[in-house]
Amino acid sequence: MGKRKPLIAGNWKMFKTCTEAVETASKLVKLSSNVTDTDIMIAPTFTSLALVSKVVAGTNVGLGAQNLFWEAQGAYTGEISAQMILSAGCSYVIIGHSERRQFFSETDSSVNKKINSAIQSGLIPVMCIGETGPERDADKTFSILDKQVQMGLEGFSSGNLRSLVIAYEPVWAIGTGKTATSGQAQEVHRFLRSLIEKKFDKNLAESIRILYGGSVKPDNIAELMSMPDIDGALVGGASLDPEVFSKIIHF
Ligand code: PEP
Repeated sequence: MGKRKPLIAGNWKMFKTCTEAVETASKLVKLSSNVTDTDIMIAPTFTSLALVSKVVAGTNVGLGAQNLFWEAQGAYTGEISAQMILSAGCSYVIIGHSERRQFFSETDSSVNKKINSAIQSGLIPVMCIGETGPERDADKTFSILDKQVQMGLEGFSSGNLRSLVIAYEPVWAIGTGKTATSGQAQEVHRFLRSLIEKKFDKNLAESIRILYGGSVKPDNIAELMSMPDIDGALVGGASLDPEVFSKIIHF
């Protein structure tokens, strides 16, 4: 099996003003300019996207949005479409982050529509899935993930999903300082890859990138990345400081 190119993605969540975002992105571009064997993506807030896109244009740092709405345009006050995100210079979009599911009532069915809209527009969707602490304690991890994958990817063919990235983010590990052990993460990533093979085909299962997310830091990234089915990381807190994020990128 050809090794998949790693992707290290930074989710800046609701942090950084426009000025701060430009400053952080500029530092990151310098710190990561020597990286060729890993894809890099940062996802600032919507308000900073167009500005940051000028900073990262022509560099090895890709740009992503943290969410989208699936309609192309219309009377949807406060929402932003895939086309608008593209026109701001993005090539990626994070979809279904657990904070969106928890605080903004996103469901597997809205995730499905958002992935469809991203793919139709040519954006690379990063679909976030993961179990909560109580679900893991009740041994429901695999059934929850199965449901999130089945419903999130309902109606697609493997041809549609060639660019899809999956981020496995156990909710109990996000922003808590608790990381899944590399063994726990690998077990889930293996399960997800076999699920993709069953639902779609072997080619997609072998080429799809599955990122781990949840308290990734410079001191745990190398071990996570040594696992055969972990193809990168979605990093929250530790992506806000360009020096720290650069250490993760240089795992
Ligand atoms: C995230 O926001 O996707 C995330 C994994 O956050 P953190 O790295 O802070 O746990």
